[in-house]
Amino acid sequence: MYYTSLEAMARKYERTERQYAFHPVDQAAHEAWRKEAAARLKEISGIDQCEAADLRPVKHSEVPMDGFVKEYWTIQTEPDIYMPFYLLRPGSPNGAAVIVPHGHGSGKEGTVSDFDNPGVAAMRQWFDKGCFAHDLARAGYTVACPDERGSGERREAGQQGDSPEAWTSNSHRELLQVAIGFGQSVIGLAVWDLMRLVDFLAEQPDIDETRIGCAGMSGGGQQTLWLAAVDERISAAVTSGYFYGMKESLVVLAANCPCNFVPNMWRTMDMGDMGAMIAPRPLFIESGEKDGLNGPSGLLNVYPQVETARSAFRLYGAQDRLQHSIHPGGHQWVGAGVIEFFDKWLLRK
Ligand SMILES: [Zn+2]
Repeated sequence: MYYTSLEAMARKYERTERQYAFHPVDQAAHEAWRKEAAARLKEISGIDQCEAADLRPVKHSEVPMDGFVKEYWTIQTEPDIYMPFYLLRPGSPNGAAVIVPHGHGSGKEGTVSDFDNPGVAAMRQWFDKGCFAHDLARAGYTVACPDERGSGERREAGQQGDSPEAWTSNSHRELLQVAIGFGQSVIGLAVWDLMRLVDFLAEQPDIDETRIGCAGMSGGGQQTLWLAAVDERISAAVTSGYFYGMKESLVVLAANCPCNFVPNMWRTMDMGDMGAMIAPRPLFIESGEKDGLNGPSGLLNVYPQVETARSAFRLYGAQDRLQHSIHPGGHQWVGAGVIEFFDKWLLRK
């Protein structure tokens, strides 16, 4: 006999009111709601407890590639906390930039398909389907590929090492357990770092700060969704493998990585509400029909969230700015139409 708790907690989720659930009224009400909701997300995730620091950007190296230059940079995101990232500089920059945060199982080396990295080599099947970051750079975009906290060169002591297993691991459990005592979260820390990366990009002479996008898969889709929800400087966003009802995907699938969990989130909003916060800025959602992270009811746990987001775009007569692309596969990046999406919305002005 087992006397478990999680099923009752899932029912409690259903009884719980989400204080910042979006209800469409008009544009003015949406704008007022969006600002309040962003402030609340920054509060519960601990973004507003992060400490400002001089960016101290340093370029450490550059390597010519086919059609672009791969630069290696660091910036300071909080006092004594540094974030390394690759910056892909296109031969002919188009004035726009895209941040590509990675998901679990790799760091920035996975984003740039660096098969010399033991972790990326071990996951070759995952990364060998073409390189979206390279494709973007060859299309003229400046592309920023950072390490998330706890991954890649930002792994904490317990996960460091050069074995494939070490490179594909992360320190999200340790970071969450320490962060939570400050009222913070891993996603809050990660989004703060990405906001500092936007600061850096906005200062680059060949980048127009009104043309900065973000695109990611899985944990990268999570970071993209959060960043675009709280930082209006993201002018277009692509989230893949991370847009579904939280009850099925995070409460029922309670063993997901600790970076998915934020104090008081279940009392605040669902994922469709986060999508509604991005409106009317263009949003591209990619879902895999067989993605197990959609939750037990699959796409039926995705559609209502997309509809919540769509209700916000409708207020602006901007339904064409919300694109939902469904592929027949599982938890994977396909990216069909994503470069066209950025071309349409970041280059049109
Ligand atoms: Zn994680």
